Amino acid sequence: DLAAANTDLATRRADALGGPLSPLFYRRPLEVVRGEGPWLHTADGTRYLDAYNNVAVVGHAHPAVTTAVATQLARLNTHSRYLHAAVVDLAERILATMPAELDTCLFTTSGTEANELAWRLATEYTGGSAAVIAEHAYHGSTKWMADLSPNEWPAGHRPAHTATFEAPHGPAAGLTAEEASRRIAATTQALDEQAALVLADSQFTSEGILDVPGEFLAGLVDGAHAAGALYLADEVQSGYGRSGPHLWRFVLSGVTPDIVTLGKPMGAGYPIGAVVTRREIADVLARRYEYFSTFAATPAAAAAGHAVLDILQLTGLPEQAVEVGARLRAGLRALAEGEPLLGDVRGVGLLAGVHVRADGEAASRDVARSLLELLVGQGVLAGLTGAGGDVLKIRPPLVWERAHADLFVDRLGRALRARRERR
Ligand code: PMP
Repeated sequence: DLAAANTDLATRRADALGGPLSPLFYRRPLEVVRGEGPWLHTADGTRYLDAYNNVAVVGHAHPAVTTAVATQLARLNTHSRYLHAAVVDLAERILATMPAELDTCLFTTSGTEANELAWRLATEYTGGSAAVIAEHAYHGSTKWMADLSPNEWPAGHRPAHTATFEAPHGPAAGLTAEEASRRIAATTQALDEQAALVLADSQFTSEGILDVPGEFLAGLVDGAHAAGALYLADEVQSGYGRSGPHLWRFVLSGVTPDIVTLGKPMGAGYPIGAVVTRREIADVLARRYEYFSTFAATPAAAAAGHAVLDILQLTGLPEQAVEVGARLRAGLRALAEGEPLLGDVRGVGLLAGVHVRADGEAASRDVARSLLELLVGQGVLAGLTGAGGDVLKIRPPLVWERAHADLFVDRLGRALRARRERR
């Protein structure tokens, strides 16, 4: 039967794919076989509301993306050392969405590779060898990026060339840009090595989707520059229209980064990422090296990249994300009122977090996990994030409409009631 087949597949996967090295979501892993807009369908015929996927930014299996990629694959797909108009057009299109001084776009195949290339650019440009990151950041899976991802550090581990800063949350955080700048400058001075890069996810997603005041971000950029380092805005998760009409989250904070990295939603699942920076920074790397990555903007990846931008720019999904996100947060706040297990509701647009509280003996992380599992039972797929693993993470495809936001709030209410009844 299907449940046995699911268990069998999970066992074979664990055997062949390294067991605990590649964990899956949810107590009973889901075998998803089909996607459609905001919905995911599993092998057993269940339909789930997707409250988690940002790769499918324009909705699952969007016909315009599928057609664009399939048409290009049927014609030509090859490495990135040939002239190809769609690749050049895509670079120009991305640059047109960025602050004017960011005039150079280097393609990669993933968010990790983008951050890795950015790190290389920063170390060459500044002569530095150390980085400053947020306390619980995640920036990627290579050796270098794992070093810059405290979220992944084993207990007690801290690479010598790193320093961390604590990100403030909410308007009451009350930190001026000057004070933030002083703190970052002091942090970099305490390092044994010269700092090359200060980097942060623009919505502090793995910190728990914090609402970090723009002044703090401004201080971060100033502090980086005062220390001779560059500032990188990691938009791999927070970018691509999730926070509103500007495609990029850093715009809302009022800062201009030296480097921006893109990934995840960029090709709606077809691998492509990018580093956007100033030409003078790229030129320093070019004096000593060349940069080439085989699959970095193949013609098919470029076709996917154009289809995503077409949809975002022509259909108003980023504007819709602001409206639906506001409704979602209002619904979540109404639910949290008088609900001792729900705390503060965070985020911008369609990247939202709900802080979950401890319940007597049950730690907040365990309560959050039980709500996540009960949501699966209610047909809703969400995630968890934050230093304590106790923030419900809602980061859906931007095709969510009001009804989907309302459905999520209703199902979370039911999950809370189910948890209460079970005890
Ligand atoms: N930066 C951030 C902020 C991310 O969230 C991720 C992926 N979770 C990455 C970088 C790495 O991207 P990828 O997994 O595509 O290499």
